[in-house]
Amino acid sequence: MKELSMTIDGKAVTTRNTFAVINPATEEVFAQSPDCTSEQLDLAVDAANRAFTGWGEDETLRRQALIECATIIRSNADELAVLFTREQGRTLQDTTEELLGSAWWIDEVAKMEVPIDLLVDDETSRVEIGRKPLGVVGAITPWNFPIILAVSKWAPALLVGNTMVVKPSPYTPLTSLFIGELLRDILPPGVLNIVSGGDELGAWMTNHSGIRMITFTGSVATGKKVARAAAQSLKRVVLELGGNDAAIVLPDVDTKQVAGKLFGMAFRQCGQVCIAIKRLYIHADIFSEMVDALREIAEGLRLGDGMEPDTDMGPINNLPQLKRVIDLVEDARQQGAKIETGGKRLDRPGYFFPPTIVTNVSEGVRLVDEEQFGPVLPVMSFSDIDDVVERANGTVYGLGGSIWTNDLGKGRELAARLDCGTAWINQHHGFRPNIPFGGAKLSGIGIQNGRLGLD
Ligand code: NAD
Repeated sequence: MKELSMTIDGKAVTTRNTFAVINPATEEVFAQSPDCTSEQLDLAVDAANRAFTGWGEDETLRRQALIECATIIRSNADELAVLFTREQGRTLQDTTEELLGSAWWIDEVAKMEVPIDLLVDDETSRVEIGRKPLGVVGAITPWNFPIILAVSKWAPALLVGNTMVVKPSPYTPLTSLFIGELLRDILPPGVLNIVSGGDELGAWMTNHSGIRMITFTGSVATGKKVARAAAQSLKRVVLELGGNDAAIVLPDVDTKQVAGKLFGMAFRQCGQVCIAIKRLYIHADIFSEMVDALREIAEGLRLGDGMEPDTDMGPINNLPQLKRVIDLVEDARQQGAKIETGGKRLDRPGYFFPPTIVTNVSEGVRLVDEEQFGPVLPVMSFSDIDDVVERANGTVYGLGGSIWTNDLGKGRELAARLDCGTAWINQHHGFRPNIPFGGAKLSGIGIQNGRLGLD
């Protein structure tokens, strides 16, 4: 495949050193990605600083440029999706959807109003809140949704007049680099710089004196490092971190119908979703019926290379993540858990792990207490509603949570008691450009999306 370059100051930039990108469906190195040096990062930050002056001046032009960015991503979605599936592992349908969804997201952001709030307007005074761009914003992203998570950072930041340096995960740098190439002729030089490298590149960004804000999505452990480093120069930070979302299912639901939805929201993208259902609490009256229904769905899925049209679920994205999933399942097994289905890595090349339903576990077992971020779901029963709300909230995480019931009044009352950034009723994945998103407790600081995200 053609070699992709970084985009710095509107130009293609290559590097002396590169790093390997592995196709998780085959475990083969299929491409090399540029390994940005600290001098090249300086060039990117300088270019973004220079571009800031002009870019901040004309809001109409910025909106127009964003719409053009969306159009070019949309019209190249098929070619981008092939690369995306090869580096990420998800199915072509999934990666295409993420690309088209990202284009739609940019269009929606381009329509957002940048508000001025009028606080006082009387005979003696007028007081309003205006907002100004910060300057250069650094975006650091993970490997699970590399495009939409980057777009949901750079589109609003560019809309309000900031300029950007974006660093994708070293596991999935290529689609972002390709998008950087596509946008070179649309955005003025320096407005959107896309660099690739390992974790140390992220650390250089968080320590860089020319960057005014870091918007980060990733694990809690890295989020703490980002916050520590950013504190040295008091950079603004938005941290969107890990979760351990609970879903609570009341006994009044239609088990068969709800099982499909719960399964999808736990196992979509191989469970590698920050807001996946990661702990499932089912009322004792419908527990065994629900476990049977979930097992049946799991056993009907076809695992395979995301490039093959009949694949339902691809591999885990990378070896450390696969090892983590195996470790958590083995630990649960040793603690007496029952593996209802799945539970063992597939005996074939690729980081394939089947959808795995685990029962006979409870709080205190690592699979329940920690974020698995993979295709394994602990399913537990409850009888007392106050007790299950306490169990759902008894975690250091606070990203999302959901209540499943036909009684919407009851659903609202219980959802309001969940200690998390977003609580849903009868769904779990809602994530849109106009709805603010952020984590409570260790799941994050600050807000993305919607009016609050623009602020
Ligand atoms: P990670 O924290 O390992 O890496 C994320 C990014 O940070 C990568 O680009 C990495 O290179 C970079 N990085 C690593 N060390 C760094 C450092 N010291 N300073 C600056 N940057 C550094 O996370 P991951 O494994 O890529 O992603 C999985 C995690 O992301 C999960 O915990 C998941 O829940 C979380 N996530 C959260 C959200 C959300 O919106 N809250 C969305 C998606 C994923």
